[in-house]
Amino acid sequence: IKKIAVLTSGGDAPGMNAGIRAVVRAGIFNNLEVFGVRRGYDGLVNGEIFPMDAKSVANIIQRGGTILKTARSEAFKTIEGRKQAYDNLRSHEIDAMVVIGGDGTFTGASKFIDEFDFPIIGLPGTIDNDLAGTDFTIGYDTAINTVIQAVDKIRDTAESHDRVFVIEVMGRDSGLIAIRSGISTGAEAVLVPEFEVDYDAIMKRLDKSRKNKSSRIIIVAEGDKEGGMIVSEKIKENFPHYDVRLSILGHIQRGGSPTCMDRVLASRLGVAAVEALVAGRRGEMAGLICSEIRFTPFKSAIKHNVKLNEDLLRIIEILSL
Ligand code: ATP
Repeated sequence: IKKIAVLTSGGDAPGMNAGIRAVVRAGIFNNLEVFGVRRGYDGLVNGEIFPMDAKSVANIIQRGGTILKTARSEAFKTIEGRKQAYDNLRSHEIDAMVVIGGDGTFTGASKFIDEFDFPIIGLPGTIDNDLAGTDFTIGYDTAINTVIQAVDKIRDTAESHDRVFVIEVMGRDSGLIAIRSGISTGAEAVLVPEFEVDYDAIMKRLDKSRKNKSSRIIIVAEGDKEGGMIVSEKIKENFPHYDVRLSILGHIQRGGSPTCMDRVLASRLGVAAVEALVAGRRGEMAGLICSEIRFTPFKSAIKHNVKLNEDLLRIIEILSL
């Protein structure tokens, strides 16, 4: 291969810029020409493809978001769109590509490889940590650290007013952000979509923990069946004398400067992705398992393979006395 492209796709995640930088610089190190694609698969379809050099990724490792911008592309879901994308890549004589995104991005990449025999390697870029084949995805560590900073601040006001706070965090299908945030902020309960919620047990725990603490925090993943609003109403109904408040953290969870963990992860995986393409690999996601680089076929990396570790929920119960 002589020319490669890089793009970011799906939801943005802190650390994507560190990944772009690593791909561009590792590409140049391996004597490749590197092209950037703006706005994910939409940019491939529309031909938003431009040459990148070492300077174009200077001073971005610490920045959140993605300098290449990202998008959800309807056009790429059609065969006509993907054919247009392929023609645009070929018109620049691009031979291979690195895509940074989540499971939708890899599903699209898989189709593209099958249809056009085009080499693609993926980097796991999503705050949700919901991909198999890597212990952590790029963006997850920053997102959970953003959540715990926010929850610590809420804890101060909750404690001063003896309040119960229900805090909704991101995770449409997964409780992985909720669970680690809950453990590290001393939450009294964590509600996740992966497990049925035992409301009786939670109410008993809230009541019992009252003698030891004046504030209580319940973290609810956005993908929970009920959601933060209904959970807070249920607590109010059960304990009319509690001062219950709801806080939905929202998009602050996606932004901000990536943590050291995310910068190092993205840098290692970006280099690994380029080296994999040079070695002739394709159709796989580069991940880190027990600090070793591992490659997982796209079809096995997608999120229904990820299980939430039940032990994490169990320790919340033990530690929330
Ligand atoms: P996140 O986990 O942050 O949401 P994601 O990669 O899962 O990231 P999606 O929006 O689901 O984000 O997918 C990104 C893009 O991948 C879509 O906008 C679409 O262009 C492409 N894609 C997703 N599913 C398919 C599919 N079945 N066929 C072709 N392309 C697809």
